[in-house]
Amino acid sequence: MGEMKEVRCPKCGGAIRFEFRATLSADREPEAAEALRRGTLFDVRCGCGFESTIRYPMLYTDMAHRAVIRCTGTDDEEVLRMTAEEVRKTAEAFGGAALQHRIVTDADDLREKAEIFHAGLDDRHVEIMKPFVLQQLREAKPDLPVAYLRFHAADGGETFTAYDSEGAPLGSFPFNRRAYEEGIVPNMPLGPEDNVLFVSPAWTAEYFARRAG
Ligand SMILES: [Zn+2]
Repeated sequence: MGEMKEVRCPKCGGAIRFEFRATLSADREPEAAEALRRGTLFDVRCGCGFESTIRYPMLYTDMAHRAVIRCTGTDDEEVLRMTAEEVRKTAEAFGGAALQHRIVTDADDLREKAEIFHAGLDDRHVEIMKPFVLQQLREAKPDLPVAYLRFHAADGGETFTAYDSEGAPLGSFPFNRRAYEEGIVPNMPLGPEDNVLFVSPAWTAEYFARRAG
């Protein structure tokens, strides 16, 4: 359950009230979890019309999909180190490997991982799939300035959306679940060393480097 808090509107100086959630359980609060997956949970709107997105830390749990995601709301290294330490302690207390623990720094990453787990996918295999899809996309559309991909599953359709380096969306295309299930999952095995808290492009690069080496 959320708690009402206020921030000052940078445009008119008035108070914007919003529902602050230190934790969000997808199992107990399905509507809030859906807003999170749609990317609207952190949106606020002032009476004057000013719209913004609030950043704050959140612990998101999806027990149906055995996922626990901590969003730090910051990429401060000391905060990330302390969060990782805390997660390792609680993960041990809760039996470790039964749950997938992840740490993300912002709401976009939290939204994407929440959607991936909700869709019954593994975020590591989705990250492993991205470079292959990016390569195909660049070959098919060499003029498209695509920098990265994000998984989306709002409105029932599973897609990858391509973004440029400024974060502007360039277009969406269907997520190929068959390629994921029959190509990526069986051919890209994950070992105990892949039980990591940070599943990011850096982890993906390290995974490929290990396979190549
Ligand atoms: Zn305002």
